[in-house]
Amino acid sequence: MGRPAETLANVTLAGSGLDRRAELRTDRHLLGRLLAVPDTRVLELRGDRVAADEGPDGARLRLRPPEASDGGRLAVFLGADARDVMYVGVVGDPLPHEDGAGGSGPATGGEGDGLVTLRHVAADLDDLEAGMFATLLALANWHRSHGHCARCGAATQPQQSGWVRRCTNEGSEHYPRTDVAVIMSVVDEQDRLLMAQGAGWGTGRYSVLAGFLEPGESLAQAVAREVREEVGLEVFDVQYLGDQPWPFPTSLMVGFTARADSGALRLQESEIADARWFTRDEVRAGVADGSLAVSSRLSISRRLVEHWLGHEITGVR
Ligand SMILES: [Zn+2]
Repeated sequence: MGRPAETLANVTLAGSGLDRRAELRTDRHLLGRLLAVPDTRVLELRGDRVAADEGPDGARLRLRPPEASDGGRLAVFLGADARDVMYVGVVGDPLPHEDGAGGSGPATGGEGDGLVTLRHVAADLDDLEAGMFATLLALANWHRSHGHCARCGAATQPQQSGWVRRCTNEGSEHYPRTDVAVIMSVVDEQDRLLMAQGAGWGTGRYSVLAGFLEPGESLAQAVAREVREEVGLEVFDVQYLGDQPWPFPTSLMVGFTARADSGALRLQESEIADARWFTRDEVRAGVADGSLAVSSRLSISRRLVEHWLGHEITGVR
């Protein structure tokens, strides 16, 4: 019981590779200078998609040199790679079929236009490109919803190479927000895993529990509260396993494992349609015959299930 849990390795979107070079952001001329030289690589976001090519060895983003029109677009300095290539993200025109909300649409990806969503492509990108796409998407989602000052309602303008918005009326500065969520594998004394079906998910789909951190709460407290609220159990031995940027629209998922005594589950009806304890054999058999649908391989949710299972789940995206 007291054995420390090994942390998750290679969580999609959690790798590094992009040197953010944050010290350069305050240079007011940085973006203008970078967008004036052909060596700069530009990643253009349209709605929640970017151009990418999928090959046999994974996917590559289609980065391009700066274009004249980039100067009139929302741009953000993403950073540099190990060879000192500089990367700028720009928010291009929305796609004709999108409403501009972005970020939470279905991961249909590749519709013949070569544009893909992060959900569609992230697991096939290298760490540098996955990190760039995730950073640009999270920042763009934040910019989209922060065009006005939270203090006085006046318009805000991007500053610091796209990493701050400043109120045009009274100068207050607004920083990109990240909404922290906890996600946890809860295991009982028989080493069974608790998984639940969210309200409205449809039959067969089960996942570990998750929920947003509340103000004034520690991460471990949030884990305990969410499990108590959703299934009525008290957890102990809460251990951190890993975390994952989740820019849909601007979250960070922090993954834990915890123990609980298998008692009667008391489901929160508004959120949980079903919850139960699974043995490893039940998970393997359910995935194999299609009766159990697990979270996508991109997600830390899937990685938590695999961590408990002791091996990867193959054959299902
Ligand atoms: Zn203001």
